[in-house]
Amino acid sequence: MFLTISTTGSPERPATDLGFLLHKHPGKAQAFSTSHGTAHVFYPEAAAERCTAALLLEVDPVALVRRGQGKGRGGAPDAALAQYVNDRPYAASSLLAVALSGVFRSALGGKCAARPELPEQARPLRVEIPALPARGGPELVHRLFDPLGWDLVRAEPVPLDERFPEWGDSRYVRLVLEGELKLADALRQLYVLLPVLDDAKHYWIAPDEVDKLLRAGDGWLAAHPENGLISSRYLARHKRLTQDALERLELVRLAEADGSEVEELDNAVDENRDTEERPVPLAVHRRDAILAALRAAGAARVLDLGCGQGQLVQALLGDPAYTEIVGMDVSVRALNLAAKRLRLERMGERQSTRVRLLQGSLAYTDKRLAGYDAAVLSEVIEHLDPERLPALEYAVFGSARPRTVLVTTPNVEYNVRWESLPAGHARHGDHRFEWTRAEFRAWAGEVARRHGYAVEFVPVGDDDPEVGPPTQMAVFTTADHPDHSDHPKPSDHPDRTGHTPKEGEAA
Ligand code: SAH
Repeated sequence: MFLTISTTGSPERPATDLGFLLHKHPGKAQAFSTSHGTAHVFYPEAAAERCTAALLLEVDPVALVRRGQGKGRGGAPDAALAQYVNDRPYAASSLLAVALSGVFRSALGGKCAARPELPEQARPLRVEIPALPARGGPELVHRLFDPLGWDLVRAEPVPLDERFPEWGDSRYVRLVLEGELKLADALRQLYVLLPVLDDAKHYWIAPDEVDKLLRAGDGWLAAHPENGLISSRYLARHKRLTQDALERLELVRLAEADGSEVEELDNAVDENRDTEERPVPLAVHRRDAILAALRAAGAARVLDLGCGQGQLVQALLGDPAYTEIVGMDVSVRALNLAAKRLRLERMGERQSTRVRLLQGSLAYTDKRLAGYDAAVLSEVIEHLDPERLPALEYAVFGSARPRTVLVTTPNVEYNVRWESLPAGHARHGDHRFEWTRAEFRAWAGEVARRHGYAVEFVPVGDDDPEVGPPTQMAVFTTADHPDHSDHPKPSDHPDRTGHTPKEGEAA
């Protein structure tokens, strides 16, 4: 298992300061014995212009077994151990994360007794891990690292065997991260995210794991759009611990925001309560279902209509397959929060050409929305009065007319399964309605028929045999080209409200 950290510098700010930051002298190779083997730290290069520190962990499978830590829940040797023994001893994993925290403890804590000013400074960093087990592949690597301030996140799949490309890729990626960060921040991200990507934690989960997670997540995890997935995987999918972690992260997130912002966030959280239901995994399921459907549709230019705080926009940005991403919402406050989340202001040029946030209302046709591959309406329709739905229907399916439209909405039948929801209550105060599966299918079927789309339904979340899934998703597709205009015009559109949206009428 191998990881390198490099930095560049100048005579005034030498790269060899990395040695101070890591508390390891660049001039010598050192070995440390850890609970799982031996960790070697050495510097393949150490000059003022460029300095690289390498951490090499030699795993001792015998030590692993002796400590009883190579066992899965049932006491059988787990897949992770099998892999160290048989397969890929050089793969980075949770063991590397443990070694990292042992060998670079002070650096992780942002402490440097000799040069206390150093840890406070961001510097150009390059992290490389040649073989990183990544369950979820390059796409998940991007979702995890893209929001963390790196200029470059590269995750290349490692082929199973270079001689036989037809065998496909292994579950390993070569990871490269480059950007201006504080070293402690970079190390803390790796400490949490390596085991999350590995997804095969090798030791028992104790309650103080939540404390460790929050400490290592200080400054980046609370606002991370994937903090649900990160917490759940880091805590080996332990439900109660995950929920505990997420509740505490939410408090951190609110505390991190200053005065006026707290109020904004509070309201926004409230506004999106349905999408942020605790425990969070439903929001994660929903995003995964949406991403899978967009991928299956081969969409590159995507609208997120009613984008809220921009979580989905952010996830899409992480995947280079999406060349143009437009988030639209009626709420300026939500858009401001989205801009903050995406760091629009500080975004590099290449990224910023891919994303746009628009203020607008789905109750009006809007020319800016024409000609896209796909549109997503995630938990949006239920926020409109039923009388406004025909207008939304025309704006999306009649006027904007993307090839694929994804609509998600709560399945009201599932509400009996929410422990905290009093009988007969909607999931959120601002829901104007919540539909049964039959009601949603009837609406979607009519919409599809009126506008020349086919529609399919996908359950999202645990599909209960009796009451169905918590979230229902309709996938609409049409074969005709967006510019094609043989779809119903406003005049022949049977608008039940009598409101005929005017072409180009935008909020
Ligand atoms: N799509 C996000 C947010 C859902 S909350 C998610 O899945 O997490 C619903 C969002 O729809 C809110 O941000 C709200 O401001 C927005 N919204 C409500 N009515 C709207 C309208 N008429 N036009 C555009 N957005 C609207």
